[in-house]
Amino acid sequence: MFVNYKTSGVFLKEIDKGEADQLFTIYTKDFGRLEVMGKGIRKMTSKLRSQTRILSLSDVEFIQGKAGKTLTGSIIRDKFGEIGADLNKTETAKKIAQLMAKALRGQERDEKSWSLLLETLLFLKKTDLRETAAVYHYFFWNLLAGLGYRPQLDVCCFCKLKPACGIIYFEPGDGGISCKACRPPDARDFQIDSGILRILKFFEESNVETASRIKLTESQKNKLEAISTGFLDTIL
Ligand SMILES: [Zn+2]
Repeated sequence: MFVNYKTSGVFLKEIDKGEADQLFTIYTKDFGRLEVMGKGIRKMTSKLRSQTRILSLSDVEFIQGKAGKTLTGSIIRDKFGEIGADLNKTETAKKIAQLMAKALRGQERDEKSWSLLLETLLFLKKTDLRETAAVYHYFFWNLLAGLGYRPQLDVCCFCKLKPACGIIYFEPGDGGISCKACRPPDARDFQIDSGILRILKFFEESNVETASRIKLTESQKNKLEAISTGFLDTIL
């Protein structure tokens, strides 16, 4: 007999497999990130078909077989439906789902990542927002900090001194900021200013609501995008 496992989970990703199957990446409360096969799920007759939407919070059930996990039940509890009507919010929620699917490789449960995901999706759903870039970056830096990748932002990661001249670099591969003198010759060009540094520190101390109120300029958005992508590349 197979054990039937039950947990809450957010559907992050789906890939079509075979004629009618789909492999889901689900972030679950009790088991962390899971890959679960939805057998026959693309058939019109599948009962689970309507209950496996990307970015929905669902009560899921699965069994563990020799070849992997198979989805045996799913009931949607929250579709984060209002996100769908707003393009900006939808894009941000999708980016969050992609980041979760990519950054979380292990299978351990992690209360912090779970709460952060639900808190952020719920906030996106409930809040009228003109801008969502700060919400994404709040999520990004807090997720990675929770996974043990908190960047060193107070002192240069080489000489351990506060950068004196105001020219600061973010060095993704070295885990934090660097002063001009210590910057390795082969470093990627992530020059940042004290404004970006303040924003990164603020994300660490704030919650999603206070973070969402930060007004980011276009150039700050581009810089945050560049350093977060660079940071992710070096740790994965
Ligand atoms: Zn230095």
